[in-house]
This record gives sequence, structure tokens and C-alpha cells, in this order.
Amino acid sequence: MAELQPSPVSAAAAPGSADGGPAAARVNLLDFDLEGLTAFCEQLGEKRFRAVQLFRWIHQKGAADFAQMSDLARSLRDKLAHRAEVRGLAILSEQASTDGTIKWLFDVGNGDAVEAVFIPEADRGTLCVSSQAGCAVGCRFCSTGHQGFSRNLSTGEILAQLWFAEHHLRQRLKLAPGERAIDNVVMMGMGEPLQNYCALVPALRVMLDDHGYGLSRRRVTVSTSGVVPMMDRLRVDCPVALAVSLHAPEDGLRDQLVPLNRKYPLAELMAACERYLEAAPRDFITFEYCMLDGANDAPEQARQLVRLVTGRAGTPAVPCKLNLIPFNPFPASGLLRSPKERVDAFAQVLIESGIVTTVRRTRGDDIAAACGQLAGEVQDRTRASERLTRPAIRIAPAPVTPEGDRLHGRRAG
Ligand code: SF4
Repeated sequence: MAELQPSPVSAAAAPGSADGGPAAARVNLLDFDLEGLTAFCEQLGEKRFRAVQLFRWIHQKGAADFAQMSDLARSLRDKLAHRAEVRGLAILSEQASTDGTIKWLFDVGNGDAVEAVFIPEADRGTLCVSSQAGCAVGCRFCSTGHQGFSRNLSTGEILAQLWFAEHHLRQRLKLAPGERAIDNVVMMGMGEPLQNYCALVPALRVMLDDHGYGLSRRRVTVSTSGVVPMMDRLRVDCPVALAVSLHAPEDGLRDQLVPLNRKYPLAELMAACERYLEAAPRDFITFEYCMLDGANDAPEQARQLVRLVTGRAGTPAVPCKLNLIPFNPFPASGLLRSPKERVDAFAQVLIESGIVTTVRRTRGDDIAAACGQLAGEVQDRTRASERLTRPAIRIAPAPVTPEGDRLHGRRAG
């Protein structure tokens, strides 16, 4: 594990580092989208174009020190120094994987810490961002879910992860002026983003804003376990790309893997996906499917999945891409990773049915930064670990196929 040397950006952003009074009394400007910042500037007697300048200094240049903002009037800089600050998150640690993935642990106070992960690829850089300290959904295969839930992050705490990573990486990678480090954001870190909707939407707007990070809607993805009413609201308020954590082709198994399914079962979820597509920036939904040995990885379950997404299971047909994710085992889950042959056979069923299917390459395995591994530190207020230390998943007996697949009786948990 490599210790992070605070960059000038993060040092300047440390809580309470700006001039002009105690941090608690000052407004954190990372909490505002452009409309919010405009309203704040109007309270200070300033026009909208000043808010735009300030917004660009913060998000495009990574500035936290008002004295640096040379094109703002001196009088405004003085007012800001007394009333506001750009308060990033303190960094507890950085870990760098041999494959280039970097994971940061951010302190969000009161013993809670959240993680963000940078995943470099040949043609782009992706940042995986957390939305909550912990998560109340409690999916069986997810390390965050086993930790329980402490609290929602604020808009500023969500954005601080991107703000830090973008400007820190620009310096670290010695990028040329105008080059960006991150051109893809996935809300797939700790937490269920749609259970923190009010903080999420302004953060998404800053990511999309041309005066902010200027990311296209296709390059900002919200991943949900299926909070149906909020999917409908997101479709209207800020339709970005959508990924849905599916993980099972029928309600009985999904109830066990993703407990939220008991509230919003698959028929409702698929109908919400169909509605979302009316406004989505892509003409498909990405379904995430974590491959769990003996639990959800049988060929018959692949055929059930085909029926589900093509509407032959009595649900609406949903144009989609299936993303099969190799499970990253952790002891408390009691679950195992599907062997490669089983993943390949599962994928083959989907592909032969005309469904675009990918098997996700695991990244950051060696630093526990891969999908489902983010754990941070959470003061659990939900007794999740107790609830999740329950008997193994029970899989309904499925017929033995002509090829002789053993579809049941394998240990899942
Ligand atoms: S998979 Fe997502 S929704 Fe489920 S427990 Fe983990 S963070 Fe929460």
C-alpha cells in the first residue's frame, strides 16, 4: 500500500484550512450545483456570471483558495472568505494496484470512511464514487451491505471524491492543460445512490454541467438495486445512464440476494426499466449480474434471464446489455466465485439469444477495489452483519438438463 502525499489541491482543501473563521460556520461550496451557487451568490449581492466564474474555478481548476481566483473582484473574495469554503474530504489512505487501479479511503467523520476507486483504461479513466457511508439494502454478495448503514453522504461529500481525484490525477499524471483524468463516472461505490436521491441529483448536475466537469449523460452511470419510485424520478430530473443490479432471474432467489426485491419485485422493476428507457441517454439498460457458484449461474437460470428481459416471462421486454461480474469472495458472504467454464456457459446462452453480454474483467483485486469489495469503515446503525449471518441461500430445485448439469445441491452459502 502506498501512502498518499497530499497534493497542493488536497492540502488546500483540508477542512478549516481557508482563512476567515471556523469551518463549521462556513458554507461548503461543493454542496451546490450551479443553480444553488447562483442563489448563494445572489444572497451576497452578486450576479449569476460571478457564480459561473466561481463554479469554474472550483470544478474546472480545482481551486479551493479564494485568493487564487484572480478574476473575481476583491470584495467578492473577501465576502467568500468569511462566509464560505471549498471543503474536500481528508484522505485516510491510498492503495495502488499493480493494474493501475487506485483506491482512496476518505474520512467523512464520526468514525465513518468511504472509498472511491479510479480505474484507468487505454481510452478512458473511470471513477467509481460512493453515495452513502455503508448501505441499508444488505445484498448478500456485497461487502458494503454486510457492513450495514451509517448515513447518507451530502452532495459535497459525493462531489469531493470526484473533485479530489480529477485534480489530484491531473497533477500526478502530468496532464496537459485541458486534458482530463476522468471521463466516466459510475455511482457504483458504497451505498444505494437512489436511497440518497436529494444529495445525488445536484451532484450529477455538477458532473454534467459544461461549467463543471462537462461529462456526457452517457458517461455518468447510476447503479441501483431497483428503487423503483426513484428510478421514475431520475428519468424526469436527470436521466443519466442506468445500471440495474439484477443478480437473479426470478423473485424467489432475488429476494434472498437483493432484499429490496421483496418491496419492488422483478415485474415492477422491469416495468420501471422500460419507462426509464423513454428518457435514457442510451437505448439500453445495463443489467449487472454477479456470478455466484451454484446460486445463480446454471444454464437454466440463464434461460430464465433471457425470458425475463425479452418479456417472455410476462414482464416487459427491456433492451439491455448483460454484464456478468465474477464474484469477489469475502468470508462473511459464505458465497463462492463461479468457475470460468460456468460463466462462459451462462454467457453463451445469453449470446445465442441475441443479448449483448460481457464478462467484466476484475480490476484492483489485489487492493480489494473490485466490484462488491468496497467496505470503507462504517458505524453500523442497522445490525446488518447480524441479519446477514443467516443460513445459506436456498435454491429452489431446478430440473436436470439433458447435458446432465447439476443445477441444485451445490453449496451456495
Ligand atoms: S450491492 Fe449496492 S445496493 Fe446492494 S448492499 Fe452493496 S452497495 Fe448496497
